[in-house]
Amino acid sequence: MHIYNTLTKKKEKFQTIEPNKVKMYVCGPTVYDFFHIGNARSFVMADTIRKALEYKGYEVKFVMNLTDIDDKIINKANKEKISAKDVAEKYSKAFFEDIEKLKVKKATVHPKATEHIQEIIDFISDLIEKGYAYNVDGNVFFDISKFKDYGKLSGKKIDELEAGARIEINENKKNPLDFALWKKAKPGEPYWSSPWGEGRPGWHIECSAMSCKHLGETIDIHAGGSDLIFPHHENEIAQSEARTGKKFVNYWIHFGFLNIDNEKMSKSLGNFFTTREILAKYRAQELRYLYLQTHYSAPLNFTMEGLNACKKGLEKIETLAAYVIEQIDKNLEGEIPEFNFNYYYQQFEIAIDDDFNFPKAIAVIFEFVREINKLISSENKLDSTFYKSVYEFLHKTAEKVLSILNFDELKRKVERSLEDDLIDILIKIRQEAKINKNYQLADKIRDELAKIGIILQDTKDGVIYKKEIK
Ligand code: AMP
Ligand code: ZN
Repeated sequence: MHIYNTLTKKKEKFQTIEPNKVKMYVCGPTVYDFFHIGNARSFVMADTIRKALEYKGYEVKFVMNLTDIDDKIINKANKEKISAKDVAEKYSKAFFEDIEKLKVKKATVHPKATEHIQEIIDFISDLIEKGYAYNVDGNVFFDISKFKDYGKLSGKKIDELEAGARIEINENKKNPLDFALWKKAKPGEPYWSSPWGEGRPGWHIECSAMSCKHLGETIDIHAGGSDLIFPHHENEIAQSEARTGKKFVNYWIHFGFLNIDNEKMSKSLGNFFTTREILAKYRAQELRYLYLQTHYSAPLNFTMEGLNACKKGLEKIETLAAYVIEQIDKNLEGEIPEFNFNYYYQQFEIAIDDDFNFPKAIAVIFEFVREINKLISSENKLDSTFYKSVYEFLHKTAEKVLSILNFDELKRKVERSLEDDLIDILIKIRQEAKINKNYQLADKIRDELAKIGIILQDTKDGVIYKKEIK
């Protein structure tokens, strides 16, 4: 398996620290609002990479943090006249609801910054002790001049950054690029006590501290949107490696940005969708299918037409999947045709192994669907065991890894339509009974259906029925 590593700018062979185990950290949301479909792209990509690694047989310890104290949260709290804690709680809850709807698997751990204040303080104390950080009147900064490798992830040179920088000049800092590890509390802001006075952690340090606590000093994979390469991930490397003297992350994975109608997505342009809004009208499978058709590292242009096309595109797989469920239920005996399932499993794995090439993995599934459809239409009667193998393949690949198929949902649809078909047959028999003046039978059908909550109504346009909700 090969992964493109932002640090080396090469596709590298994937080798884990411990055999068959992967330690993976993903930068999660700042919980100050509902997350948008750009954030969702990053969460879905990280989730699919995790599921692909699990498909390969790795045991993945997957950590995704929640930034629950930050300027954005404090601003929102002031605007809404509630506490920062209430803002964070409200949007953390919304985050968990939305990722569940998106079929993003819960992380092994979802650590929160405010629950790791002691770890963060210990981390900063170590950096001060080692000479990498300094305290100016209750604000603690990381001294980037002390960390020789600064810039190794983003490829940025310190002198160029200093020269160009639109970076705010802060009188307190030795160097404009030094970043805050601990921020002194301003009046009215939430704070925690520390050796440097009352204050709160900076954003970068929380990821270093929580990654170290839950995964250890060196981890296999760290991922996030490409906007985080600089300064966030560059700073995470500086803090973590300065403290431990060890390599922080072996493989850095970055997700391309999502734009809308070829423009940057932003609130002020009004071209902004929350994941909630989209999931009120579309199913998770459709949105995931849209994301997964583009390689995770490339930018993705979102359009409503594109999303509608995904809805149509999925029909091909879903029609076959629904048919397969019905055939398995019938428990048929028949022919078991020659079909090389292994070939498709291999092709699917080759796609994953090539830097998580999900667009290719989707193409493999579509080719599989085409070939199976050919067999179904050409053979007479196929055995249920064959349909079970088709189900297995779609379940393991399209459902469990890509989550662009949902068998439970389809089963409910198939069952519902079977029930509807049966009711229609009974209505037809009742109509015939009435024509034949067999009112006893007609009434019996109506009354028996009523007993199971199906209410028939004779209208001028024919018979309609309602299902009573019990
Ligand atoms: P935030 O809540 O802003 O800290 O972002 C949470 C995650 O979403 C981070 O990994 C970001 O890099 C990622 N992200 C933010 N905006 C976008 C976007 N437009 N496209 C893709 N990923 C994004
Ligand atoms: Zn982070």
